[in-house]
Amino acid sequence: MREIQMVDLRAQYDKIGLEIDNAINSVLMSTAFIKGPDVKLFEEELQKYMGVKHVVSCANGTDALHLAMMVLGLKPGDEVITTDFTFIATIEVIALLGLKPVIVDPDPGTFNISVEAIQKAITPKTKAIVPVHLFGQCADMENIIELAKKHDLFVIEDAAQATGADYHFKNGTTKKAGTIGHIGTTSFFPSKNLGCYGDGGALYTNDETFARKLRSIANHGMKVRYHYDDIGVNSRLDTIQAAILRAKLKHLSEFNSARREVADRYDKAFAGCLSISVPERVSYSSHIFHQYTIRVKNGRRDELKKFLESKKIPSMVYYPGPLHLQKAYDYLGYKEDDFPVTTSLCKEVLSLPMHPDLEMEQIEYITLNVLEFFDKSL
Ligand SMILES: *Cc1c(COP(=O)(O)O)cnc(C)c1O
Repeated sequence: MREIQMVDLRAQYDKIGLEIDNAINSVLMSTAFIKGPDVKLFEEELQKYMGVKHVVSCANGTDALHLAMMVLGLKPGDEVITTDFTFIATIEVIALLGLKPVIVDPDPGTFNISVEAIQKAITPKTKAIVPVHLFGQCADMENIIELAKKHDLFVIEDAAQATGADYHFKNGTTKKAGTIGHIGTTSFFPSKNLGCYGDGGALYTNDETFARKLRSIANHGMKVRYHYDDIGVNSRLDTIQAAILRAKLKHLSEFNSARREVADRYDKAFAGCLSISVPERVSYSSHIFHQYTIRVKNGRRDELKKFLESKKIPSMVYYPGPLHLQKAYDYLGYKEDDFPVTTSLCKEVLSLPMHPDLEMEQIEYITLNVLEFFDKSL
């Protein structure tokens, strides 16, 4: 059996390596390393796939969030509500711009930001909400949008973990994660569902004015060469990465389905195991399983992780500590027990190996060992 990895980028390269090599080679030959033709072509292809009016590529997912926050025209001290249970980038960019991150708890079942908690956190200073579609499943967007409309707030979706997930509205329409709010952001970090071979990111919007401004500030605020209309940054997607992403976008649906099949097999195997709970799936979103994250009961998460390690099965804790307790964010003045859901999730969650190239034999080996751990210790 092949050694099990959390994400097996080598197995993927073994399958599609020729397409990747050709993509890279064509850029090497053209030497158009910055803003080469593949960047525009990738944006157009992603735009079509996402069903959104504008895609603006940038250097990484953190920059995408940063750029999104920059175009909203917010003032220092304005409040932005986001979840305690996410990757640090989501809150970091809010703080960097002198805005005030207002942290709320997620829903314990879906791990996504709680609409009820958002509602309670809204003040006259609130200007935006940043839901994160965590682990590959959409947050409760219809209710979030309704709340935002009522209070005249921007909605910026952090879709870094959900490229390709579908949100189903009550009226029967479907939109891709990241295209529902005012602006959506994503990351092409290698381990993401659509990952490149380095750093990369993008923004989605249906708003022409936002799109124009985002394009400008991602490139030094320059519209006409050496004329600067906005204060910008240097955040561009490399042409080589764009060429790789063009090749990989063609496989995204197939890769996301393969992940779902792995998740189905995990679900089935763990169905009778009372010591863990499998990821909750909601009716309003498809799940593309960026992570397959279980909750381990009775304080035995770390013990299970060690046991799996001894069997050469990797697993990861996303996320080990609530954001509100990180040293850098002391100044926000949160107390240890302010967000009990996040605090308990951080003690219970464990993400199992998840990627499109997991083989039957590997999945069986993983599930048998998880079940054996609990059986032995009954
Ligand atoms: C990966 C990720 C980011 C940041 O993306 P980078 O490309 O690594 O900067 C932001 N938010 C979430 C939820 C992520 O998972």
